[in-house]
Amino acid sequence: MRDVIVVGAGGGGPVVAKELAARGLDVLLLEAGAGFEHSESEWSHFENEANNPATGIFRFGPSDRTQPPWARDLPQNCFLWQTAGVGGSTLHYFANSPRAMPGAFSDYIGADVDAYDRDHVAPFGYRELIPYYEWVEQTLPVQTAAMGTKEERFLHGAAKLGLPHQTSKDITVAAFRPQENAILQPHGTAGRTGDRKKLVYPRAQGCTFCGHCPQGCVEPRRSPRNLRAKRSTHTSYVPMALTADRWTRGKAVTLVPDSFAVRVETDGGVVRGITWRNVRNGATTTEQAKVVVLAAGPVETPRLWLNSGLPNPNDQVGRGLTDHYLDYLVGRFPSYTGSSKGPTSAARLDFPGFGGLEQAGVSPGLQGQALTSSDSGIAGFYDHGAPVGTWGTDAVGRLVGERLKRFMSNIDRLVGVALITDDDVLPENRVMLSMTMAPDAHGPIARLVIPARSPRTLKRREYLAGRAVGLLRAAGATEVIRVNFPGLLLHLHSTMRMGIRQADSVLDSDAESRWVKRLFVADNSALPNGLGGPNPTLTTQALATRTAEKIFVRYFGGDPWVAHESPVSSVDDTVTQAVLAAGL
Ligand SMILES: Cc1cc2nc3c(=O)[nH]c(=O)nc-3n(C[C@H](O)[C@H](O)[C@H](O)COP(=O)(O)OP(=O)(O)OC[C@H]3O[C@@H](n4cnc5c(N)ncnc54)[C@H](O)[C@@H]3O)c2cc1C
Repeated sequence: MRDVIVVGAGGGGPVVAKELAARGLDVLLLEAGAGFEHSESEWSHFENEANNPATGIFRFGPSDRTQPPWARDLPQNCFLWQTAGVGGSTLHYFANSPRAMPGAFSDYIGADVDAYDRDHVAPFGYRELIPYYEWVEQTLPVQTAAMGTKEERFLHGAAKLGLPHQTSKDITVAAFRPQENAILQPHGTAGRTGDRKKLVYPRAQGCTFCGHCPQGCVEPRRSPRNLRAKRSTHTSYVPMALTADRWTRGKAVTLVPDSFAVRVETDGGVVRGITWRNVRNGATTTEQAKVVVLAAGPVETPRLWLNSGLPNPNDQVGRGLTDHYLDYLVGRFPSYTGSSKGPTSAARLDFPGFGGLEQAGVSPGLQGQALTSSDSGIAGFYDHGAPVGTWGTDAVGRLVGERLKRFMSNIDRLVGVALITDDDVLPENRVMLSMTMAPDAHGPIARLVIPARSPRTLKRREYLAGRAVGLLRAAGATEVIRVNFPGLLLHLHSTMRMGIRQADSVLDSDAESRWVKRLFVADNSALPNGLGGPNPTLTTQALATRTAEKIFVRYFGGDPWVAHESPVSSVDDTVTQAVLAAGL
């Protein structure tokens, strides 16, 4: 019998696995997708090869890319952007790592308190989470982003709006700042040359400014896996978990990729283990554990729960989905902006009570994808109902023809702004089991529905769109377009929410399931709400650290550690030596 089984090796799962293994527990980490053991040779900067949602390296599907991706039932115009494989969706992520807004937590007493979704606050205070944030920020590590011309343009526009410069990690007022991100700052030749031959470790260290954050990140070439620039969990927490017996007196995690969990085993209201299916040969295995942690992501965790027939007495499993109702605005400039260079998104603006704006400079394929994904029809030709916050733009909708050519002819004259809305928890937005599409080899598939947005969510989004237009104009854009994204589902949260009230939550204040003991959740689905708008992964990882500590104390008789110890950074020499010795 294992001490702990963790399901899912994405943003949250490896955090729990590493923390508990470092304290000597026997942890099994199951991942449905590929192991990506040879990522430097397996991954590619060719965007279609990397990102194609049907056939790409980074898709939600099996490691055998001749097989189709795993299906989801999506009955609305939307794009669900998730990755299977060790690292999960952090393989794609931009590594922006802001803390959540304090207004999303129970202890907030600011004058603007009513601007937040106070019916669905976290069941503990922001101040309680700060030591866990600090722990993760040192482990990953999180640093102030390296910036270039696109950030200069963005921050110049933000300053012209009359907003102050935020210098704290804690968001208190509407303000701009460089991102705090989990990308190592450049050293040596990195960031100083485009000559690939010179951008090799150890001459180059940290971010090489290649501009390919979403395509995994193997920069700088030939670096040990734990010294790759972008701190996906594939690079940070997973190498630490696999070598916990070497860099600390713990026990190495057993990681099994190609393993799709299909049932949570319980007995008398207590979890007993997990049954999983080997994706390559179809064999099923059951292992027992004292504790199980679900971290299969905000779509698959509720699916697994429902497919396992676990109790759901208040019908809250899968409900309350938040997604930040993202949008995208792009300005075209008369001169160089360097949009395709450096960390994808290295500057931001936060608007407490509304959400945020962040500069987004994706590579050409993704830029083209973003400019043609709209809920407003084709810009300038027909219109499916452009939203109201379109004043000041030259066009709203999907770009085609001459305008698309103009924007795409030189993406280094663009500045993109991603708009992140603080959206309200609504029970009708949810993940459920599909009754219309056929089950796959792992049972009935997930159906994700977003039938409603609260009036307040819509109002916040329009406010932010107006601010984005103002920023781009102030920065010197000569043409500004608003795409009006349909659901671009890459920040997904709160489908297994922690909550204060038993009636509208699945997890208690320690992230343990209310209905099955010893069963915890440690991915984005555990988040109580949309966090006020900041990107979610750092908060999920802080929460996962807290959850690991709760598990250790409650079920293994251990002592809490976060308040008394200093974390070992994933780039520490001891970890590098352990990673090299283990041949990772
Ligand atoms: C393009 C892009 C950019 C982003 N940028 C940012 C950013 O800058 N900052 C930020 O905070 N967030 C960002 N995100 C979001 C971020 O990726 C997620 O918040 C984070 O990965 C969520 O972690 P998770 O553990 O909930 O899910 P995931 O990371 O999706 O991990 C879930 C894992 O579980 C596995 N799995 C699923 N079902 C099963 C099963 N039944 N059995 C076994 N394994 C299973 C999956 O294969 C996957 O590996 C971005 C996302 C995208 C797509």
